[in-house]
Amino acid sequence: MPIADFIHLKVRSAYSLTEGAIKLDKVVALAKAESMPAVAVTDRNNLFGALEFAQYAANGGIQPIIGCDLAIGRFAMVGMGSVVTKSIPDFTLVIGAPARPVGYVCRCGAPLRHADGGTPTSDGKFQCSDCTRSYVVKCGLVSEN
Ligand SMILES: [Zn+2]
Repeated sequence: MPIADFIHLKVRSAYSLTEGAIKLDKVVALAKAESMPAVAVTDRNNLFGALEFAQYAANGGIQPIIGCDLAIGRFAMVGMGSVVTKSIPDFTLVIGAPARPVGYVCRCGAPLRHADGGTPTSDGKFQCSDCTRSYVVKCGLVSEN
């Protein structure tokens, strides 16, 4: 049996709501039919199908590659060594393992501070002390004002 010289590295399954419809057993069956030695499933924002996919792949003789497609928002910052486990909104600073939001950053990279000097943690308006851009935080999401 010839080995395929192509492996799908970005397949969204039915676990990616509104983006994928294929069942995981079908992913493995199609990869096997095309003589692929491996196939990746990279669902959006979740790993719900990881174990199921690994079991189908093991039974089908296919190497499973498991990924998770996460979005890093515009101008968001991830601290060194942090482990990102979910998507990060725009202008958000996250640190830790798992990464947690600890504040917000300006388009210029400076931390956003409330008028009282504190870090924005609730709804309100904030201004960058470096470049004077204004931002609004509503429900934990930052937008430029
Ligand atoms: Zn700024």
